[in-house]
Amino acid sequence: MSGTGVMDSAVDGVYETLRLYRHGAFGVRCPDCRAEAGALCLARRSVHRGRRRAYRHQLETTVLVPLLSAAV
Ligand SMILES: [Zn+2]
Repeated sequence: MSGTGVMDSAVDGVYETLRLYRHGAFGVRCPDCRAEAGALCLARRSVHRGRRRAYRHQLETTVLVPLLSAAV
């Protein structure tokens, strides 16, 4: 197996783990390729920009607001 093949396998493993646990951007639906939450994007070994944006937006609304209100 070439060095590139080892890296590809490693990247595939990381994405599969993130998908399985719906970690980060894999926890939201992709607006670009319409992959559901918990599914990989159709772009292999990549996450669409729109999905990352959707994840950040969800993070801002679901994590920061409770933290801010808890501080009051
Ligand atoms: Zn996508």
